Amino acid sequence: MITRLSHLFLRTLRDDPADAEVPSHKLLVRAGYVRRIAPGVYSWLPLGLRVLRRVENVVREEMNGIGAQEISLPALLPREPYETTNRWTEYGDGLFRLKDRKGQDYLLGPTHEELFALTVKGEYSSYKDLPVTLYQIQTKYRDEGRPRAGILRGREFIMKDSYSFDLDEDGLKASYNAHREAYQRIFERLGVSYVIVAATSGAMGGSASEEFLADSPVGEDTYVICRESGYAANVEAVVTPAPPAIPIEGQAAAQVHDTPDAPTIATLVDWANAAGIDQVLGRPVTAADTLKNVMVKLRYPDGKTEILGIGVPGDREVDDKRLGAAVEPAEVELLTEADFTANPFLVKGYIGPKGLLDNGIRYLVDPRVVSGSAWITGADAPGKHVVGLVAGRDFTPDGTIEAAEVRDGDPSPDGRGTLAAARGIEIGHIFQLGYKYTDAFEVDVLGENGKPVRLVMGSYGVGVSRMVAVLAEQMHDEKGLRWPRSVAPYDVHVVIANKDDAARAGAEQVAAELNAAGLEVLLDDRTASPGVKFKDAELLGMPLIVIVGRGWADGKIELRDRFAGTSDEIPATDAVSAVVAKARA
Ligand code: ATP
Ligand code: MG
Repeated sequence: MITRLSHLFLRTLRDDPADAEVPSHKLLVRAGYVRRIAPGVYSWLPLGLRVLRRVENVVREEMNGIGAQEISLPALLPREPYETTNRWTEYGDGLFRLKDRKGQDYLLGPTHEELFALTVKGEYSSYKDLPVTLYQIQTKYRDEGRPRAGILRGREFIMKDSYSFDLDEDGLKASYNAHREAYQRIFERLGVSYVIVAATSGAMGGSASEEFLADSPVGEDTYVICRESGYAANVEAVVTPAPPAIPIEGQAAAQVHDTPDAPTIATLVDWANAAGIDQVLGRPVTAADTLKNVMVKLRYPDGKTEILGIGVPGDREVDDKRLGAAVEPAEVELLTEADFTANPFLVKGYIGPKGLLDNGIRYLVDPRVVSGSAWITGADAPGKHVVGLVAGRDFTPDGTIEAAEVRDGDPSPDGRGTLAAARGIEIGHIFQLGYKYTDAFEVDVLGENGKPVRLVMGSYGVGVSRMVAVLAEQMHDEKGLRWPRSVAPYDVHVVIANKDDAARAGAEQVAAELNAAGLEVLLDDRTASPGVKFKDAELLGMPLIVIVGRGWADGKIELRDRFAGTSDEIPATDAVSAVVAKARA
């Protein structure tokens, strides 16, 4: 089929939308691919929908390729299953909840683990049926706190979500790996540039969860990458390599000093260098020689709270995200004045390990605080610090915690280089869920030995609508959108830039032949000026543009390749073969 711009339901805009910050958002709106309806809620117009469908199809083909079977569950869901898993409550403000006319509670599905577990339970009863992987490509709803960048973070969006069901952990691992490979093929075919990062530190054994992050300066996910080794991880998942322990024997005894003018790390370092501690060390004292003790309050799911002390080298801040991940499922809160009043040994600005440990406060330290390391830290009395407080001699922490910030230049956990921060957009997530949902719904089948076997589950997502924005983000140039061939709405955009009847007829002829050769053709047959048409062609972003213009009289057309950045005048008689060759290259 040839699509004529004179008929296409499309209006391009000259100006960027006022609410758009990132390039993909600006371009997708200006090029008439999507239109905003409400915050995070968008309509897909013809060109946008074509890209979306093509992304969907790549995903579908690769899912089918690993034997996953497509089904479609409703987006409108009853409360009960989500009540059973407590997600009706846990999801908090992120869930769209509604009532039907009888007052029954419903929600709009943010993700469908519950329903897939119930669906498998409903149909299958024997080990012979397993394993099975089901998926859908469906609209999801999340009342995101900050819907952002158009379709990049929507409140209504399309996700491919799949769920694997296996008889045992080995089966789960195989299903997980099949997904991992399918995702690599999907992203390869789409031409997106991405990294796979460990999402959790794997403290529970292996990498039970990985995220696929598209490289992008506008991404909301920060991760770290070691360029030398290729190691990449979420900031939360970085495990600090601990330096070797230091012999304790022979180290000077700890000494308490009056430090009246040293309430901060910086002033403490100045004091230490002025007081001659640098002479003792044989080098200047730095913030890394001090031990900063940060107090937080943990609130556990059962409502109980605990005050926790965290010791980090004074040159580092506590990273809220890393701390949050380290104490999960507890939530982190700040201490209140009442907490300080109730615990008078907490002397603000002078909290030390000893005061905490002596008073039964759990005290966790950064992995750099190894046995034998000596610190300048609070002495638990106003205006006093202690110098040479040795871990393993003067205090013994209750353990370590990954809460300190990760910085550019830190050693990579794999020991093969240094870390650098990078930004990405999450495009996929694979997760060995385990038994959470199959336990909740008692999803059992009869095993080979006649005993029930609880199924083990994995869940896997790809952001399908988000991918359209990600591709726009990664591929665009200063002129406009630029679609890879795998998802472009049309293979070629033919522009009639000549009013002459013969040229018009010639362009129609070229379009017809391209179409006959099996290409999807967009033909700009409008009466607009060539300048307007060229601008639109660049904005809309088809990978190849054929211009039938002034050269037609000399038997020439122009062929532009958006990715190669080339523009060639070629004989009109070669137009079709040249375009077909490039389109199929
Ligand atoms: P994010 O960290 O970006 O909020 P998530 O961890 O909540 O994502 P998952 O629940 O793992 O996401 O969902 C699977 C995939 O769905 C994500 O990898 C992402 O590509 C996509 N996705 C999630 N939320 C949105 C959204 N609000 N808009 C568009 N796509 C989304
Ligand atoms: Mg995720």
